Amino acid sequence: MRLTVIGTGYLGAVHAACMAEIGHEVLGVDVDEAKIAALAEGRAPFYEPGFPEVLARNLENGRLRFGTSLAEAAAFGDVHFVCVGTPQRPGSHAADLRYVDAVVGGLAPHLRPGALVVGKSTVPVGTAARLAGSVPALAWNPEFLREGFAVEDTLRPDRLVVGVTSAADEQVLRDVYAPILATGTPWVSTDPATAELVKVAANSFLATKISFINAMAEICEATGADVTTLASAIGYDARIGNRFLRAGVGFGGGCLPKDIRAFRHRASELGLADSVRFLHEVDEINQRRRTRAVDLARELAGGSFAGTSVTVLGATFKPDSDDIRDSPALAVANAIRAEGARVTVHDPQGIDNARAAYPDLDYSPKAQKACEGAHVVVLATEWAEYRELDPAAVREVVAAPALVDARNALDLPVWRAAGWEVRALGRSL
Ligand code: NAD
Repeated sequence: MRLTVIGTGYLGAVHAACMAEIGHEVLGVDVDEAKIAALAEGRAPFYEPGFPEVLARNLENGRLRFGTSLAEAAAFGDVHFVCVGTPQRPGSHAADLRYVDAVVGGLAPHLRPGALVVGKSTVPVGTAARLAGSVPALAWNPEFLREGFAVEDTLRPDRLVVGVTSAADEQVLRDVYAPILATGTPWVSTDPATAELVKVAANSFLATKISFINAMAEICEATGADVTTLASAIGYDARIGNRFLRAGVGFGGGCLPKDIRAFRHRASELGLADSVRFLHEVDEINQRRRTRAVDLARELAGGSFAGTSVTVLGATFKPDSDDIRDSPALAVANAIRAEGARVTVHDPQGIDNARAAYPDLDYSPKAQKACEGAHVVVLATEWAEYRELDPAAVREVVAAPALVDARNALDLPVWRAAGWEVRALGRSL
């Protein structure tokens, strides 16, 4: 089939390459000319494990190409996936839908007869219904991929969810995903409103699970209990499950924070603010963890950051990504800098993005080197390489052996045995 993918960011670029990988002819379109030029040359504009290989293979075999013209996309494709951003609107909690509206409006006059427009962007419930009149056929097919596992999640998703208004549109999407469905992937076909809600409900649940364990961490801190033991003990109950129960500095990124806020905003518009009021608490707990990480670092610094050097290990919102959007690590780094410390940040993949956004922080390309002269080291993103650090060797280069493990990622008894004073979230050590 001939598909287009409009918006080739973290979601769209991977979707485009993976749709080519399963046999379709795909045209990826974006307004960002530099991004399109990079993709067309086989250079991934972001770090995503496995993506460069899928990109290169499908450029090579001719099934995948890139451009900047919506009119060309409309003339080329039978199915158009809308993958543009839906960020938080400045000064509001609402989702900014201007990019979705621009793409749907831009495609409409040029569409081929029988073409289907499929939204993949995360949108407030009711968006598909609002846009329904502007194109002949519109469906919503929310995306659940995780950055860091995006290729795997696209080719082997837990489930595929489509919100359609006709059996014919559902069949088109079944045809698009036929090679994936053939492996037994669950298929949920529903109306567009339910499909839109499935995505925000899933993200709200995940955010709530993280904030739940982080609320327990607050209680543990006050009572001398240990949240990591608590999490593994409750996680043995299959109804609870142990995933997404790691207490730490909380969630960030380009999805969970803005999606729960947009959900609250939409619920308020619908007169249903009470139904998701708990998401306000979820957000508040999450923000408090950032403050707590800063408090622990300040305590280790002797009560004030003035004149100190602090190293923050990690800049991205999670490991295996270069995405720094709403990153807890950088929030912590900036808060510490604002209190007078000189802050040096290390990250295996996110330094370029971090430096562009926060030029006033210092950056170091090697983790141990970043720790030179530090009065406090804060582990803020749980990259696997930080678990390989040798506490004795790092101790040699710091000004004072003081560590905040804000992700509960390190073997802290080993660090203590090597002479480090250690603090962690949700644990009294
Ligand atoms: P992104 O910012 O990385 O990418 C969005 C892209 O859209 C950018 O490249 C931008 O240039 C492009 N764009 C904006 N306006 C355009 C236009 N008029 N025409 C063509 N291109 C245009 O964002 P993302 O992380 O890929 O997220 C996209 C959507 O997918 C959001 O709604 C997000 O919530 C959702 N989503 C993201 C993920 C994820 O892990 N990143 C997962 C699931 C769902």
